[in-house]
Amino acid sequence: PVASCKTVLASKVSASFRDQIKKDIKERNVKPKLVGFLANEDPAAMKYAEWTAKTCAETGCEFELRKVDKQELEQKIDEANDEASVNGIMVYYPVFGGKQDQYLQNCVSIYKDVEGLTFKYIYNVYHNIRFLDTDETTKCIIPCTPLAVIMEYIGVYNAVLPYGNRLYGRTITVINRSEIVGRPLAAMLANDGAKVYSVDITGIQMFTRGDGIKLQAHKVEDVDMTLEQVVPQSDVVITGVPVANYKLPSKLLKDGVIAINFSSFANFEDDIKQHASIFVPSVGKVTVAMLERNLLRLHDYQHREAAN
Ligand code: NAD
Repeated sequence: PVASCKTVLASKVSASFRDQIKKDIKERNVKPKLVGFLANEDPAAMKYAEWTAKTCAETGCEFELRKVDKQELEQKIDEANDEASVNGIMVYYPVFGGKQDQYLQNCVSIYKDVEGLTFKYIYNVYHNIRFLDTDETTKCIIPCTPLAVIMEYIGVYNAVLPYGNRLYGRTITVINRSEIVGRPLAAMLANDGAKVYSVDITGIQMFTRGDGIKLQAHKVEDVDMTLEQVVPQSDVVITGVPVANYKLPSKLLKDGVIAINFSSFANFEDDIKQHASIFVPSVGKVTVAMLERNLLRLHDYQHREAAN
């Protein structure tokens, strides 16, 4: 029956995050500043920039879009890294594509990286290192799309268990293993205790902290399994296939599954609500809310440093 599935909309979830951020900003009377660099003509990037501007205006953050020539981008990032009034920096990709974009991601200072895409943060996700310092006062920035997908609020995380183990006992399939979303996402879920099947076109890997979650950080193994074997076992299925005609067959899904799609295309079949207990059709707006949460965090770190 259709009525038994709860559809969780990104617009609604992001609104509650935005309200919280707005309240924090107002109470503390601060105005964190985000600079977005646009160095391409991509309409999707422009749309994303417009959405960022709109959300920033709503929450009380300052947003400045800097349109630059792609050959100047690196220098402009350097300048923004040194500008005291800039608390966060993001770049709308793709610019050159491939490895050069990866290089540019790493030109952003880790103290201003709102997207959490610099090597240090990604490395820390893969190694389950949650703080930048040994005193554990400065939390790492988490890449914002995986952070948006994790959606602690849909109750997959069991709060009875200690922090860091709250997904113990859960089996999750993630269909996408990109370096931007799928792989860090699988790592984060496994670090929190889940058994994760990470699926991409080359095959399936399993990310776990081992039997009894004894390992401190997850390990990865290639598994000789098929989608038909891993999906029916999964309590949560997360899709991010960037292809219009890709549809995950509903008949593979366990009854009452939690189904989350972060692809810009609908990866689940139309009858998904007859199989899922919770369905999240998209997460884009939550990603922007996470970006602002990261911005506020970086703003606080910079002010704390300045005060010391
Ligand atoms: P990508 O092209 O880098 O990666 C795609 C991944 O999907 C790869 O791991 C690939 O192997 C896998 N894949 C492709 N076809 C497959 C298939 N048939 N079966 C199994 N796996 C398959 O893309 P990306 O940057 O990870 O983005 C993926 C999608 O997510 C896009 O639609 C993008 O727009 C969207 N996205 C959304 C947000 C957001 O905030 N909502 C953020 C980033 C990306």
